Amino acid sequence: MNLTIETVVKGLKQDNKIPLIISGPCSAENEDQLIETCKALAKTGKIHVLRAGIWKPRTKPGSFEGVGSVGLKWLQKAKEITGLKTTVEVANTAHVYEALKHEVDMLWIGSRTSGNPFSVQEIADSLRGVDTTVLVKNPVNPDVALWEGAIERIYKAGITKIGGIHRGFSKYGESKYRNVPQWQIPIELKRRIPELFMICDPSHICGNRELLSEIAQQALDLNFNGLMIESHINPSMALSDAKQQLTPENLEVMLNNLIVRKEKSSCKKVIDELEQLRDTINVIDEELLDLLSQRMKISDQIGKHKKRNKITILQSSRWEEILNKGIETGNQKELNKEFIVKYLTLVHQESINRQNKIINPIRS
Ligand code: PEP
Ligand code: MN
Repeated sequence: MNLTIETVVKGLKQDNKIPLIISGPCSAENEDQLIETCKALAKTGKIHVLRAGIWKPRTKPGSFEGVGSVGLKWLQKAKEITGLKTTVEVANTAHVYEALKHEVDMLWIGSRTSGNPFSVQEIADSLRGVDTTVLVKNPVNPDVALWEGAIERIYKAGITKIGGIHRGFSKYGESKYRNVPQWQIPIELKRRIPELFMICDPSHICGNRELLSEIAQQALDLNFNGLMIESHINPSMALSDAKQQLTPENLEVMLNNLIVRKEKSSCKKVIDELEQLRDTINVIDEELLDLLSQRMKISDQIGKHKKRNKITILQSSRWEEILNKGIETGNQKELNKEFIVKYLTLVHQESINRQNKIINPIRS
């Protein structure tokens, strides 16, 4: 898609080499909590935009669902006190109307909304003729076209200041992340829309404080233009996302420790490009190993199943099926046949070895 995207925040003189930092509480809870958090953030001198959730999309009913429009008045006050820009999540026309009435500088579309074309279109329609900035979070499901489609809907409504926010993707089963990063998806989005301003939201990827700096650094190393990180004056008392919020002081420490790469000469640019590609390879390799490990654990389960039911380890027809399917899929994905055969043979052999260990623990 060929978008003519402008500076992402109106009136913010953003030095391209410094990542845009958005921070503030997951939710505005009361006036004191919001104002105190925002004042402490402003004191760090490292924050460009204040965030606060006003209407909260919660997984289950009965959780704290946000304070509603009254929170916008507190955010407006925080903006007056600190002189910083502000952003809130909007999910429908009423939210857009309220946010604009309270002079919110940027709007973001949350991940539960960005995957719903009806809602995104409703927001887009309510933004026609408005000069504002819209950041679009990835949908919870790993669908790059759906994310791109949401951006396209906003762009077609006449909004030219658009950014993407990568906040990870839903998973089924165990993972150290609340939402798995699947970096290849934002990388692919950026390939499709090279002008897109990309922000990473480590808070919702990690779901805890411990992994935040690792993910934030990875995002900067992958050339993201900014970070959105949740902060709270008293994180353990937060009404939503208590486990992942940082105090403004700890956020400052984390930001100070991040390394921002610079581009200097044209030669350095070439080196950086190569490094970026290598970083991507590293990320994909890690994911491949993760998948391989999951695959082997399933093989172990099959081994136990075969042992219980006295079934042979090797079943030639099944191996034949894996091989043929792999060659066919590999061909569609432009992977060399010889390479696929070698790879599948190794993986299959390792599966057999593991099943053998389970079925014949003494012999193996
Ligand atoms: C949030 O930013 O507080 C939020 C609800 O995020 P997401 O839409 O990524 O879940
Ligand atoms: Mn949150």
